[in-house]
Amino acid sequence: MRLTSGQINSQEAGKLNFTKVEGGGYRIGIPVPFPMQYVYCYLLPKEDAFVLIDTGYNYRKAREAWEEVFRELSLSPGRIEAIFVTHFHPDHSGLADWMQNKTGAPVYMHTLDLQMMEQVWGEGSIQSQRIRVMAERHGVPETLSKEIALHMDKMAETMRPLPSIQKLDHEPVFMGRQWKVLLTPGHSDGMFCLYEESTGTIFLSDLILDPITPNISVWPGTSQRPLHEYFESLEKIRELPINIAYTAHGNPIYHVKERIDELIKHHEKRLSAMETLADHSTVYQIASAIFSHRKLNPHQWRFAIAETIAHMHYLEEEGRVKHITDKHGAITYQQNHQPAT
Ligand SMILES: [Zn+2]
Ligand SMILES: [Zn+2]
Repeated sequence: MRLTSGQINSQEAGKLNFTKVEGGGYRIGIPVPFPMQYVYCYLLPKEDAFVLIDTGYNYRKAREAWEEVFRELSLSPGRIEAIFVTHFHPDHSGLADWMQNKTGAPVYMHTLDLQMMEQVWGEGSIQSQRIRVMAERHGVPETLSKEIALHMDKMAETMRPLPSIQKLDHEPVFMGRQWKVLLTPGHSDGMFCLYEESTGTIFLSDLILDPITPNISVWPGTSQRPLHEYFESLEKIRELPINIAYTAHGNPIYHVKERIDELIKHHEKRLSAMETLADHSTVYQIASAIFSHRKLNPHQWRFAIAETIAHMHYLEEEGRVKHITDKHGAITYQQNHQPAT
């Protein structure tokens, strides 16, 4: 069977989860070992070949899902001629090396996240220890910070070896059109979206999701003001005429502006809640209160801490809180009360 776009309109065969993309190609749900269940990767036609956006997390279920996709579509992996990895998170980049070996295709990333691949997942990376130090300075108990680092080290093992990655310095052509590369930092410094104006189509990766909310976090060696940058990225997207937005988790979005409003509201609510909680408090205390309704595992704690730091940095830049560092380097936050007049 020769694969042409449009043969499969919507299909869930066994473990397979894929739907047709308007204009040709497929939205393929690859399982991830996280609550969001799938990362959606996009296999899109380019003349007689294909390009791929994102690859999946490196574990058995995801590799098996790809093998089944190739079988089901009678697609020889060699027909994939380029792999675009939208950012360095392991659910997007984890299978890039595996996919590169299977297809022989070049892997493209934005230069900032290309550097993060090496810094966070490369051989000899000390990122987990840096995160541990960051967590402890923000009040995380040592037993938990050790578990966080251990969990991170295990994840890093799934990422190696890294693929050979090229800097994305061109506007890709697929689906018969040329796509703009939009740098949209916030969720990660070097995350990009691919946009095509005449059809109003955008591939958003993790920038805007529905119904879940993208994680905005501070990590060692990355931007220390990601929430400001995230809001700027959302405003950049708001200005574009968009008919359909394909996301990496959850549902495609048809009403992008409304979803942007909801996401901004979510963060504003969280900022207010965190500001109220800042009373000579550590990030760990604030995060414990915010996430008290959930039992978090070390992986989720890592994100809860890093996300809380991101919000506290935002509040501080806006003059709403200030931080105090004691002589041991421990950091607490308090509200910036208006001086009495
Ligand atoms: Zn991500
Ligand atoms: Zn993701």
